[in-house]
Amino acid sequence: MMNVSAEFGINVFNDAVMRARLPKETYKQLQKTMKDGRHLDSNVAVVVANAMKDWALEKGATHYTHWFQPMTGITAEKHDSFISPTADGKVIMEFSGKELIQGEPDASSFPSGGLRATFEARGYTAWDPNSYAFIKDGVLCIPTAFCSYGGEALDNKTPLLRSMEAINRQTLRVLKLFGNTDVTNVRTTVGPEQEYFLIDAEMYDRRPDLIYTGRTLFGAKPPKGQELHDHYFGAIKPRVQAFMTELNEELWKLGILAKTEHNEAAPAQHELAPIFSVTNISTDHNQITMELMQKIARKHGMVCLLHEKPFAGINGSGKHNNWSLATNTGVNLFEPGETPYENAQFLLFLCAVIKAVDEYQDLLRVSVASAGNDHRLGGYEAPPAIVSMYLGTELTEILTAIETDSAYGSHEKEVLKVGVHTLPRFPKDTTDRNRTSPFAFTGNKFEFRMLGSSASIADTNTVINTAVAEELRVFADRLEAAADFESALHALIKETIVAHKRIIFNGNGYEGAWVEEAEKRGLMNLRATPDCVPCLLADKNVELFTRHKVFNRAELEARHEIMLENYVKLVNIEALTMLDMARKDVLPAVSGYIHRLTRAALAKKELGDIDMEYELESARQLSKLASEAHRCVHRLDDALASATGDSLTLARSYRDGVLTAMNALRAAVDEMEVYTDASCWPYPSYGAMLFSVR
Ligand code: ADP
Ligand code: MG
Repeated sequence: MMNVSAEFGINVFNDAVMRARLPKETYKQLQKTMKDGRHLDSNVAVVVANAMKDWALEKGATHYTHWFQPMTGITAEKHDSFISPTADGKVIMEFSGKELIQGEPDASSFPSGGLRATFEARGYTAWDPNSYAFIKDGVLCIPTAFCSYGGEALDNKTPLLRSMEAINRQTLRVLKLFGNTDVTNVRTTVGPEQEYFLIDAEMYDRRPDLIYTGRTLFGAKPPKGQELHDHYFGAIKPRVQAFMTELNEELWKLGILAKTEHNEAAPAQHELAPIFSVTNISTDHNQITMELMQKIARKHGMVCLLHEKPFAGINGSGKHNNWSLATNTGVNLFEPGETPYENAQFLLFLCAVIKAVDEYQDLLRVSVASAGNDHRLGGYEAPPAIVSMYLGTELTEILTAIETDSAYGSHEKEVLKVGVHTLPRFPKDTTDRNRTSPFAFTGNKFEFRMLGSSASIADTNTVINTAVAEELRVFADRLEAAADFESALHALIKETIVAHKRIIFNGNGYEGAWVEEAEKRGLMNLRATPDCVPCLLADKNVELFTRHKVFNRAELEARHEIMLENYVKLVNIEALTMLDMARKDVLPAVSGYIHRLTRAALAKKELGDIDMEYELESARQLSKLASEAHRCVHRLDDALASATGDSLTLARSYRDGVLTAMNALRAAVDEMEVYTDASCWPYPSYGAMLFSVR
């Protein structure tokens, strides 16, 4: 058993290690670089690199890598050993300052969405000293940002860091107006709750669809799914428990604050939640968590599925992005305050988020768009594809009181005045009960629930940070110029509520009525990835990102291109996998079974007067379905062949033509599975996959 408090973070070159191992002066200079967000001085880098190397060697590392997050959504690493030959034919272990601060991976093998052609093939990685180096599998990993030579971001991390700077800048302006002059730095915090499935590795290895695409493309409904709600928070099975124990220990050694683990709603589905940390750190940590989940599951004879919708008809997996703003003085800006002034400040920040979510609902939707997540949004437990906000009844009533100049709670006789009256304390628990809302206020933070389970949290947080930064900028501009701060504040809050209350919805987002209501309110319903990607280039969005220096136009165009390209590639792989499975496994298996049935019928016929209803009816039924499936195979072939055009046209024809043909093929195949002898069916069933881990 691990001694958790002694071993927590032992594989991380964290602040304590730096303090202990670096000369005082170097440590101070490094701290300053981290605080100012500037490049590391090369003299400092030499010393840090050497200390890092010594530490890594003591831990048994032999290699180092610049660990980065290209636009594939996963992490990339290229290992170099520390060895350096000496004249006498031996080696010494070396790691230079330059190797620490800068790397030059070939950018041409990572998605660049055209940035490569416009600029240069070479890319470089630069250490982000605000993210600690760590050791993983004997390799010293140095978290880096990945850029082109022209400085264009080729990764998900760089824009995230830029957005954190933007929101810091604007929040400080607003805080100053409220007299908070002691605050010098504000950072966004995130706690991402990670959902995943665990299935038996032996089953996984027999499913080409899972292997190639991460989700089941065929599979008839099992007799039992999640209808009994007996899995959610149920007792954890021993094999799963062993996996979770090892996972926790490995995460803790890497300084990752794994905290909560439980079974989720669907059979074989689980969740892990860490304690929140600063957003760039939680982004790194979530990437490592996903990687370790997959690695450790295999060690336990299981496979961890991170796909958003691995099984049709059963809950998909998401990643709840809990987001807040924290000052360096330890204040959570979304914690409702005790005094009228604190309350007014809270309300203003709340209004900034309401306005941001309303005005940039399209960007929030794009930030979670992927072929995988399209299957999840709107299904079962997932929030609908329409972005809305849940505030809970108390907070909504307070906003209504301000909006309508009416009394609220203890101020029964008086009209509620921001900055003058104390808001009643509202119980935190009552704000956390709506599971259908995409963007819910949960007492002292916001929970954005649209994010898919396999996605990096970087994009979503880049959007939230930048959009909120923009609203704070507009607020600060106006309040800084106001003659009477208090009345300007009251007017601003009131105005914002009036203009943006349409985004607030406290009802059930799963009901069909909401779709109609949302349409009436003018909210967007962007169902699929090709519907929302074009929003990236809408004028207001380009203006937002360029104003706050988070993306320039070329970077946005690149991302637009990559998202569409990825969508088409993923659906194409799925379609080809289906065709392969149908042609090579399913149709031959069914044909073989029909043959067996008809042979049995013939044998019976020789016996004379004997009933053959079962054999003949089954053979007839299956033959009909097999012909239908066969026709669907052709239709899918045709749909693929006829999909052409520029990336957006292509993505649309995959959405309309290819996916529709895939669904038809699936329907025919799933029905055949129902009537076919289980021993002839080429793949493990849904029931076997979902219920086999004990
Ligand atoms: P639940 O949503 O299941 O009720 P909690 O609200 O306790 O659980 O926390 C969910 C996640 O939100 C955890 O990862 C937690 O660390 C994170 N969280 C809590 N406070 C904050 C905060 N101020 N900023 C960001 N994340 C937070
Ligand atoms: Mg939660």
